[in-house]
Amino acid sequence: NNIIEVNQISKHYERKIALSSLSFVVEKGEMVALIGPSGAGKTTLLNTLAAIIEPDSGEILIDGLDLRKITNQKTRARKIGIIRQQFDLVGQLAVIHNVLAGRLSEWGFVKSFISLLFPQDKQTAISALERVGLPDKTYERTSKLSGGEQQRVALARLLVQRPEIILADEPVASLDPARAEDILETLTRLAREEGQTVIASLHSVEYAKRYFTRLIALKNGEILFDLPVEKVTDEL
Ligand code: ADP
Ligand code: ADP
Repeated sequence: NNIIEVNQISKHYERKIALSSLSFVVEKGEMVALIGPSGAGKTTLLNTLAAIIEPDSGEILIDGLDLRKITNQKTRARKIGIIRQQFDLVGQLAVIHNVLAGRLSEWGFVKSFISLLFPQDKQTAISALERVGLPDKTYERTSKLSGGEQQRVALARLLVQRPEIILADEPVASLDPARAEDILETLTRLAREEGQTVIASLHSVEYAKRYFTRLIALKNGEILFDLPVEKVTDEL
């Protein structure tokens, strides 16, 4: 019942090794925190799982299917969604257009404008914004929002996309502790409600232990340890 199976993936940039023959499996519904120092390979791993970058060798299976064979954009978007550090939001557009882009497939933002003509899509976007606590920002220009609010818009877009697997690269980096806890709480609660699987990179072991079920620590592109949170000792 593994939703993700990573088999000996490696990736290098010129002489730098980013991932070194990494293998692990993730079961449906697990909440995995990826920790490790800067340069450990967390971003590379998440981007590889999102099919944004291709590993030099090895394979990734999603629900038993080779990720390389899931070429249909729509199918892929139903399986995997990612929140990246730069959020990939379009600042000039209203919040609701960015949220509706979560339904995007081939037509992207054009589709998000068309979507607004359909009351049902509009309602989906508005309720996603309610769930992340931004109902009053629906028609605000996205660039006017604070960093923390934009992070929530990215989360709302993911709620609309409803992928089976949520990947998050430092979703709370550069947020103050209260906001960070709020985002992690919202992300993990909603994912649990939907039975989604989450893999998120984090700088804080403290947050990893509080909101996730399993910790994978990377160092130099290798797995240093892989433990259920209850087995992680306090010294960490
Ligand atoms: P993180 O915040 O996860 O540590 P980095 O700041 O290391 O991520 O990297 C941010 C982006 O910059 C990555 O997506 C990566 O593609 C790129 N990058 C990282 N290191 C290098 C490098 N040595 N040369 C070129 N690009 C890099
Ligand atoms: P992390 O997210 O844990 O900080 P990264 O995946 O960003 O780690 O980086 C892993 C290693 O690969 C680092 O040594 C980084 O400098 C290198 N790296 C990442 N992206 C690039 C890139 N585009 N070009 C060159 N080196 C890179």
